Amino acid sequence: MLEARALRKSFGRTTALEGVSLSIGEGEIVAITGPSGSGKSTLLHCLAGIIRPEAGEVTFGGRRVDSLDDAGRTRLRRESFGIVFQHGELVPELSAMENVALPFLFGGHARQESLRRAMEALERLGVADCAERLPGELSGGQSQRVAVARALVASPKAVFADEPTGALDSLAGELVMKELVRTAEAARMALVIVTHDNRVASYANREIVLRDGRVAG
Ligand code: ADP
Ligand code: MG
Repeated sequence: MLEARALRKSFGRTTALEGVSLSIGEGEIVAITGPSGSGKSTLLHCLAGIIRPEAGEVTFGGRRVDSLDDAGRTRLRRESFGIVFQHGELVPELSAMENVALPFLFGGHARQESLRRAMEALERLGVADCAERLPGELSGGQSQRVAVARALVASPKAVFADEPTGALDSLAGELVMKELVRTAEAARMALVIVTHDNRVASYANREIVLRDGRVAG
C-alpha cells in the first residue's frame, strides 16, 4: 500500500536519510524507532508527502507521492492521510472540537455533523472536556490527544504519527495507543508511528530501526 524506495534527503550538509526503502501493507502497524537525530521525523514527512525527498520514490496505493506538486500532495494528505505532528500543530484560532472537525469540513460534510463526529473522537481520547478550548489553553498532553483525534476522526487510509505519546503519562499514553490501534484495525488503515518508547513499539506488527539516516534493522 505504501512504499518507499532508496529515499535520500539532506538539509544543508546534514544527510537526514540515505538509501531508505520500506514497504507497508494495508492494516499494518509499523513503528519507526532509533536515536534522536537518526531521521525518523524526516522519513515520516517523506512518506506522508509533507516534504519531498531529493532522490528515491514514495508510492501510495500505486500512485507516486514524491512527484506530485505541493497542491497535489496537500490534496492527497487531506483525502487519504491522518497526520500527528511531533509538536501537535493545531490551528490556533480554532477550538479543539473545530480542529478535530477539519478533516470532515475539508471533505465537504455539514458543520453540525462534523462537530458531532469530532466530539465523539474527543470522547474516545479522553479529552471531551477540552472541546471548547483553544489550543493555547491546552496542556501538551491534551494537545497531543486532540491532534490524535483529528488524525483518526475521518478514518483515513493511512495515519502517520510522530511521537504521539511523547507528552503523555503512561496511562494516557496507553489510552492513545489503544485508540490508534483499534481505529487502525477497524478501518484496515496503515499506521506508522515514530517513537522511542518500547511500550509504544510493542503495539506494532513490525519495527523499523533507523541509525544515521539508514535502516539498521
Ligand atoms: P529524529 O526525528 O530521528 O530525531 P530528524 O528526522 O528530525 O531526526 O532529523 C534528522 C537529521 O536532520 C538531524 O541531524 C536534524 O538535525 C536534521 N534536520 C531535520 N530537519 C531539519 C531542518 N528542517 N533543517 C535542518 N536540519 C534538519
Ligand atoms: Mg523527530
